[in-house]
Amino acid sequence: MKPPVFRFAPSPNGLLHLGHAYSALLNFDRARETGGRLLLRIEDIDATRCRPEFETAIYEDLAWLGIAWETPVRRQSEHLAEYRAALEKLAALGLVYPAFESRAEIAKLVAAREADGPWRRDPDGAPLYPGDAKSLLASERSRLIDTGAPYALRLDMAAACRRVAGLTWIELGEGPDGERGMVAARPEAWGDVILARKETPTSYHLAVVVDDALQGVSEIVRGQDLFHATSVHRLLQVLLGLPEPVYRHHLLIRDANRRKLSKSSQAMGLRELRAAGATPAAICQLVGLGQVSLGVSQTPP
Ligand code: GLU
Repeated sequence: MKPPVFRFAPSPNGLLHLGHAYSALLNFDRARETGGRLLLRIEDIDATRCRPEFETAIYEDLAWLGIAWETPVRRQSEHLAEYRAALEKLAALGLVYPAFESRAEIAKLVAAREADGPWRRDPDGAPLYPGDAKSLLASERSRLIDTGAPYALRLDMAAACRRVAGLTWIELGEGPDGERGMVAARPEAWGDVILARKETPTSYHLAVVVDDALQGVSEIVRGQDLFHATSVHRLLQVLLGLPEPVYRHHLLIRDANRRKLSKSSQAMGLRELRAAGATPAAICQLVGLGQVSLGVSQTPP
């Protein structure tokens, strides 16, 4: 039997904090416990926010924590052709359409719709795509593309869901409402998600699904903030004919005000904690993990 494959997949758009340390340590421990492999993936498709110095800091901070990963590290920015190929596969199924509205135009459309009552929001709280680019005539689409106008390539969620029924995943961790075991996916809750943009042949959802499959990741250990996104990931996996990993979503480390940590939560930054004298063992303690076996129970403070 092949050993299980795990991955830690940070974006180099800031310094790592305690929440990243928790996720990386859980992955590392699961790999050790199961005789599995641990991969590190640098999710750097957003060229405007990612910086090489943050990538260097990721390597340094993980090594300082005592985490070991396989090399070479996969960097998403080096694999755009693979994402483009997946996008073309979805387009060939008739599931992708260009939408030309700018962010400001979308906000206006949402405001107009909300004048008639509440407009649906996705599990992250963002309004669903309110436009009607899906029904543009092919000639109008070509004309707009020829003008050089920017666009987002969106998934026709209704059509995608018609192709895939009864979608589920195996949750070994826990969702925000205690979901575990066989979980029913609800990709329709996300509306017509963006799969790519004119200048970038992928979005987070598409890249993560393609990479996890290409890298043979079999158990995805990540924060509960991505629990609902798993519905979209499962849908894309089925549409693209990719294998199904199991998922283990873990609790999020929160600050004293119960807020999720962000890249700007300086007080919980690994660099700050280290400068203040914290040792890797102290970091393990802080996130509620013993130094040796982390097991399945997750009780971060
Ligand atoms: N790159 C994502 C992040 O830093 C994680 C992606 C994932 O684990 O699926 O939040």
